[in-house]
Amino acid sequence: MMMTLLSARFCVGCGQVLDELQLSDNRHCWINAHAYCERYGYRFNELHLIEDTCPPCARVLAIGRREAAV
Ligand SMILES: [Zn+2]
Repeated sequence: MMMTLLSARFCVGCGQVLDELQLSDNRHCWINAHAYCERYGYRFNELHLIEDTCPPCARVLAIGRREAAV
């Protein structure tokens, strides 16, 4: 039996998952991976995680890169 995997963008910085199914005001919403699984009835190992960076972590990384360059 094939297991259906749910593709989810996963932030490598904070471990949150992008909830693409639940858009609020056209903004993507990053939520805790556990909350995501509960909301859609998936187990964590049924998620196909795609490495990504959420906007807050992207900002932190950008600042880190800038400081490292000084
Ligand atoms: Zn993040």
